[in-house]
Amino acid sequence: MIFSEKLSHIVRQRESLAAFTWLQLGGEAKYFAEPGNLTELAGLIKEASSAGLPIRLLGAGSNLLIREEGVDGLVIHLSTAEMALVSIANDRLTARAGAKLNHVISAAVGAGLGGLEHLAGIPGSVGAAIATNAGITNDDIGSRVASVTLIDRAGNLEKLSGNQLQFGFRRSNLQDNFIVEAEFKLRAGNSAELTRRMQSNWIVRRAAQPVMNSRTAQAFIEPDGTRLADVLEAAGVRDAREGEFAMDWAHPGFVIASGQAKSKDLIALVTRVSRSVEAKSGIQLQSVLKIW
Ligand SMILES: Cc1cc2nc3c(=O)[nH]c(=O)nc-3n(C[C@H](O)[C@H](O)[C@H](O)COP(=O)(O)OP(=O)(O)OC[C@H]3O[C@@H](n4cnc5c(N)ncnc54)[C@H](O)[C@@H]3O)c2cc1C
Repeated sequence: MIFSEKLSHIVRQRESLAAFTWLQLGGEAKYFAEPGNLTELAGLIKEASSAGLPIRLLGAGSNLLIREEGVDGLVIHLSTAEMALVSIANDRLTARAGAKLNHVISAAVGAGLGGLEHLAGIPGSVGAAIATNAGITNDDIGSRVASVTLIDRAGNLEKLSGNQLQFGFRRSNLQDNFIVEAEFKLRAGNSAELTRRMQSNWIVRRAAQPVMNSRTAQAFIEPDGTRLADVLEAAGVRDAREGEFAMDWAHPGFVIASGQAKSKDLIALVTRVSRSVEAKSGIQLQSVLKIW
């Protein structure tokens, strides 16, 4: 074990990652830890960095495909209560990276703070949502972020705000960093009205997702200026399959895994669908799914 005595008791070896992802497949992490507090998180990052180990943060696993070969490094799962703290002061909500986005939205709405309710129904954690600027067609989380606290490889915290934060369509300048906490600037509103809006957004979003199947991932996002369903249909790949992975005809862009689905099948499916669409309509589809 390369970790010091004060951390080795929280580090597990050869942990299977499948159970931590929505797709429920993939190999093991060489080292795996669920830090109970910021001191442990900082220590893990510092010691793994000194040992030259690759480090990856795992949120809710809703946007991850893990190869069967697994991860030859340290996977840090932000799952404990301290990693998911949420607090509110005036019009500011502060959330640790492991907090579930939907929990944060409910907390804001319950406190009569508006601005996040449009994002209701997007699965996952706050940290990952900010790293990839999760959102819906015309709105994203980045536009509500006032500051983000990162932790560097030496275990030091750094708070970024203003023009240090850059968000684009499903991307940010924070992607290769470790996000620990974010502060959202919200606006005061009527809690009952905000709740109604959150609920109706939730219903709309869930209707667009394959909620009956939990082994799912959003493989493609809507292209600019045209409907994804139409370009998939035109290329004849709206219901394409590869091994035990299938494009979900009813929910364009989503894929569904079954049985012993393998990561290579999804990679092959995404490649085939992208090529077919490009050949047919010249559109380069974007996938934001992270592959480990
Ligand atoms: C049914 C379904 C519907 C979806 N709908 C939408 C939608 O409407 N809009 C949308 O934008 N997305 C959508 N997604 C994608 C997914 O919800 C988002 O990408 C979400 O932000 C992923 O969060 P997560 O915690 O599950 O991330 P994970 O899958 O755990 O991780 C994804 C990536 O984020 C990184 N990451 C995790 N935590 C941190 C951190 N603290 N700091 C830095 N990087 C970190 C990981 O290393 C990894 O690279 C959907 C997915 C599903 C399955």
